[in-house]
Amino acid sequence: MPVSFLGETIGEQQTKIVRIPVCRLASGTALSVAVHVLRGSGDGPAVGIMSAHHGEELFTTELMRRLRQILLDSRFRGTVLMVPCANPPSFEAGTRNTPVDMHNLNRVFPGNAAGWLSEKLAAVIWDRFVPAIDAFLDYHCGGEDTEIHYTYTLDPGTPFGRTVHELAMLGSAPILWQTAHPAGSLSGETTRRQIPTVILEVGGGPSFGTDLMDRGLAAACRILRKLGVLDGPVGRGEARIVVREGGAVRPAHGGLFLPEVGHDALGTSVPGGTILGRVVAPDTFEELDVIRAPYPVTEIMMVRSRTSKVHPGEYAYILGDGESGQAIV
Ligand SMILES: [Zn+2]
Repeated sequence: MPVSFLGETIGEQQTKIVRIPVCRLASGTALSVAVHVLRGSGDGPAVGIMSAHHGEELFTTELMRRLRQILLDSRFRGTVLMVPCANPPSFEAGTRNTPVDMHNLNRVFPGNAAGWLSEKLAAVIWDRFVPAIDAFLDYHCGGEDTEIHYTYTLDPGTPFGRTVHELAMLGSAPILWQTAHPAGSLSGETTRRQIPTVILEVGGGPSFGTDLMDRGLAAACRILRKLGVLDGPVGRGEARIVVREGGAVRPAHGGLFLPEVGHDALGTSVPGGTILGRVVAPDTFEELDVIRAPYPVTEIMMVRSRTSKVHPGEYAYILGDGESGQAIV
């Protein structure tokens, strides 16, 4: 059976790029969000996959390009609706927030068609993309100098929570984080709507050329098998621990960031007090901040792995409290 999306008909084993119109920008350029509608053979769920709410997150856009090719080379069921670049103005500028209004797209869902540009973008995604999907994979990653690797999960104590947790367990990340979604995030809203949703935080600029791309793609295929889109045995994810407490560690002062713990530590734990990185003044070389592992067992979920300029308050690390966690056996 063909499927229909925004008035376009996509037959079995066909693929179409359908653009959701947003508005005209000040330059007159038409802003739209491109959705790759990949229709497989036979009945199956409609799975939404999205990346680059935040324009500096290139790694998962490339992951999506490769995943699309894997799907096109496979026989699959149902429909995949893929949005590789959810925030085109932000991607163009290479910024986390949308340049025109400086809002964070992933904090303004479900959006407002009469609001700021970011809110208009959120509103079209919410009103036109979300109603078409039965499950949602929400990809995020680090920027030019940072890498991230963890998967959000929910308390498996309810049927919905168990569904989400089983999907999260199939991810590539050794660490799952059971925590509330940020207010105004698309995943928070799809979860509220009881659409099974997994946020996969995987990779970043320094991850190109590492095994994170292949691990991320293998995880996407496991999840798509679990959802009944791809055939074959689901396989086992890489989850090692679920942490319940954690958060971002941000430098008190800006400057030149010198990592001591980087890519190789992602997904592992270090003892409390381990020096993770330092901030020095670029002009005087004065040491302005020393970032240490805050928990007796500190789980490393995000690293600033490149020697880089850092602003005060930016992400340096995202860390979990290993003692709040539960090992996965
Ligand atoms: Zn993001």
